[in-house]
Amino acid sequence: MIKKGIQYGCVCCVLVMMSIGCLQIIKNKTVIKSVIDQTETASLDPVIYKTVVCLDAGHGGDDVGAESNGRYEKDDDLDITLAVKKELESLGIEVILTRLDDSSIDNAPRAEYANLYEAAVLVSIHRNYYEGAEAVDGIEAWINSQFLQVDEALATAILEEIEKAVPQSTIRGIKGGTMDGEGNYTINRVAQMPSCILELGFVSSSYDNYLLDTYFNDYTKAIAKGIYAYTKTLNI
Ligand SMILES: [Zn+2]
Repeated sequence: MIKKGIQYGCVCCVLVMMSIGCLQIIKNKTVIKSVIDQTETASLDPVIYKTVVCLDAGHGGDDVGAESNGRYEKDDDLDITLAVKKELESLGIEVILTRLDDSSIDNAPRAEYANLYEAAVLVSIHRNYYEGAEAVDGIEAWINSQFLQVDEALATAILEEIEKAVPQSTIRGIKGGTMDGEGNYTINRVAQMPSCILELGFVSSSYDNYLLDTYFNDYTKAIAKGIYAYTKTLNI
């Protein structure tokens, strides 16, 4: 695992949340026994670790995220996340999720969960909102304000695949820190591994909503492909 940043404790928050069922643990390592271990010389079973990716569907529960014409960001975030999970699994990646349903979870425990399970990357999936300007559209990724190379490479891999898969999309690029220029979003601040927050279009843009609804599978396959391509560069 490529680690970054300072270690933040509070695993107990994660454990408490897990015990009340907000988070589901999905087995993060796969042990495959050697087919030659019946020979006398095979003293050790090789252990093959699958790459673990943590996906985080933004918001949930009372926190609906952005809203426009009765469309809630939290629902789109979860639909996209579940579809990306499926795609990644078909590529042989082990996926853990911070939420599987309409649960409400704070942001720090989401990243702490990825830290606890030593995920190789953390991708938080959101949709954007722009007050009063329906014409504002496009896809962007937010990373740590220091523009860490690992974060930038992850975000680039995802955006490049999206651009190829759905060229009608407006690619707004990679942004660091937060919208108001202060610090970092919690996900990127707490994650000890390469991370990014993907904003897959604006809920407030009928054009983006049309693209997402029409090319949903292309988007989710592209996100998975980008994450997969990035994990292949990690040598794990
Ligand atoms: Zn959001």
